[in-house]
Amino acid sequence: MTCEDAHLHMHDYISGELSPEICDDMFDHFEACEYCRNHFHEARRMAAGIGNLMQSTAPPELHSAVSRILAGG
Ligand SMILES: [Zn+2]
Repeated sequence: MTCEDAHLHMHDYISGELSPEICDDMFDHFEACEYCRNHFHEARRMAAGIGNLMQSTAPPELHSAVSRILAGG
């Protein structure tokens, strides 16, 4: 696997959508390549941050309840 391949698959790797064979290749590449390893940690941190952000926003039930109240019951 080249750095280009690793970057290409980075997003799918983080979201767990890669086939196990490619995951193994990715893992091997991160072991060998510090640049891609750092990039991976950075991308994963960002993905986790976005996940937290999504969880901290109001659930859809609350949105519909609020719009019902605003519409006068
Ligand atoms: Zn690399």
